[in-house]
Amino acid sequence: MGIEFNQLPFMNPATGEQFGAVAMATPQEVCNARRELGAVAPTWAAKPVKERVRILRKLQAVVIDAIDEITTVINQDNGKSRQDALAEVIITVDKLHQYYKRAPTWLRRRSVPPGLYFFRRYYTEPRPYGVVAVIGPWNYPFELIVPATCSALLAGNVVLVKPSEVTPATGVMIEKLFQRVPELAPFVRFVHGDGRVGAALVDSKPDLVFLTGSTKTGRIVARKTAETLTPFLCELGGKDPMIVLEDADVKAAAKWGVWGAFYNTGQMCISVERVYVVAEVYDEFLNTVLEEVKQYRIGYSPDIDNPYHMGPFTLQRQVDIVEDHLQDALKKGARVLSGGKRDGMFMGPTVLVDVDHSMKVMQEETFGPLMPIMKAQDETHAIQLANHSDFGLSACVWSSNLRRAQRVAEQLEVGSVNINDAITHYPVSLLPLAGFKLSGNARTHGEGEVMQFTRMQSQAVGVPPLPVDLATIMRAPGHYKLGSAVLHLAFGRTPRQRLQPITAFVQENEVAPKVGKAVTAVGLTAFVMTAAAALFRARKS
Ligand code: NAD
Repeated sequence: MGIEFNQLPFMNPATGEQFGAVAMATPQEVCNARRELGAVAPTWAAKPVKERVRILRKLQAVVIDAIDEITTVINQDNGKSRQDALAEVIITVDKLHQYYKRAPTWLRRRSVPPGLYFFRRYYTEPRPYGVVAVIGPWNYPFELIVPATCSALLAGNVVLVKPSEVTPATGVMIEKLFQRVPELAPFVRFVHGDGRVGAALVDSKPDLVFLTGSTKTGRIVARKTAETLTPFLCELGGKDPMIVLEDADVKAAAKWGVWGAFYNTGQMCISVERVYVVAEVYDEFLNTVLEEVKQYRIGYSPDIDNPYHMGPFTLQRQVDIVEDHLQDALKKGARVLSGGKRDGMFMGPTVLVDVDHSMKVMQEETFGPLMPIMKAQDETHAIQLANHSDFGLSACVWSSNLRRAQRVAEQLEVGSVNINDAITHYPVSLLPLAGFKLSGNARTHGEGEVMQFTRMQSQAVGVPPLPVDLATIMRAPGHYKLGSAVLHLAFGRTPRQRLQPITAFVQENEVAPKVGKAVTAVGLTAFVMTAAAALFRARKS
């Protein structure tokens, strides 16, 4: 293959110190892991859901025991504070807890109404895919790997995980957590490495690929999986708008909008990336934002008691993107009202005004501490601007009139809308999160997160074909009239349509001999009763 696969260093982005390393998986190791998992997949799939839940609950206990260990590693690996790392663990455990409780219901076999074919029983049965590949990003290196992996396992799949190369220490730690549950360990394998390992994983033909990452990588993997028609689910980038209407609590909007823009140093798929403020309250909003960002303290601490609001960038590539968006905006006429200066991997909360949609900062995902604010003429204009984007992950709307805010929400082309708060829809473990447009096609949170790892098998169950079953009758030639009569009787939309079989019978039998009439009448009665029963069943279902 001509590619050198080697060591992946663990780097603390805040200090620049290396604190370990892991060997990158070779393409052969990826293939072997995929093959070995395929061999044990039927063993895990054969376990009843309750048994899978019993085993997975042990992982929940392991995670809770390891909270301090987990937050220490994420803090070193990603640069976020211990408290923000803890938030990842809380969201993860909350999800696992809710999913385990509900999985037996979500994953149960369901009965399907028989319609006209009531001599048999019909079911749907969610079946696992087999080997699921979970490929994760670095910004939430724990929370964007563990729930997806456990959801796939709950659904009966085995999982091959590739954590981000930017936060490899967290990937190794997650692997160790799974290994602490011996009953689970054989069914989850990890391959560490960069995009080349991710590509090798996709090439190894898993039964489904689940990617959380950038839209750019999403496109590459979509092309690859299209070649083999491998099912592909993706959670991709965002460019989330915030709309502030004239009747909003402007102070709250400014305070929590700032928080939504700069939390995790803006390195969040659902960060507030664009702000549209209706003209009447624009100045008040801006002034409050500028007051708010003055309070922000920037820095890094490995301690539990971290005094900083914002930590470092997690990687240089992100610094380059943010600088590029900032310079592009300044060249096109934007002004920086606060921040804008960088010290190595640290940058203060940066507020930009005089921005427009010709600028990258209003069109491309920035994923960093920039908060561009734009004046909108009115509600309609704000909605137009918010929808003028290739992305559609989430949005927030601020108004003291909740009905109005909900009406605005319905017009936004995004998967989630938060009214009078920013980003706090994310921790609600059963509230579906799924992007529109280029933000992807997967689901995280709730039933959808688990069920997307299943494919539905339909089952029709019964004794061999009975002669009285419509499905049997319609197999033999000569039953056109009967079929037509059933169709009229069962599905006719008017009395004339419904009565058509009887009318046809009366008309036809005016010339028929009496015996024939009697025989046909008996047959018709039997037919009408059968059809009526069918109609009753069809209606009931
Ligand atoms: P990325 O696309 O660079 O990498 C994501 C993962 O894909 C990594 O593990 C990487 O090694 C792997 N990868 C790269 N090239 C690959 C290839 N050719 N084949 C297979 N795998 C490959 O993204 P990132 O920088 O790690 O994460 C940030 C992005 O993730 C942002 O765009 C952010 O919006 C997005 N994200 C989305 C959500 C969501 O829920 N929608 C959540 C978090 C992050």
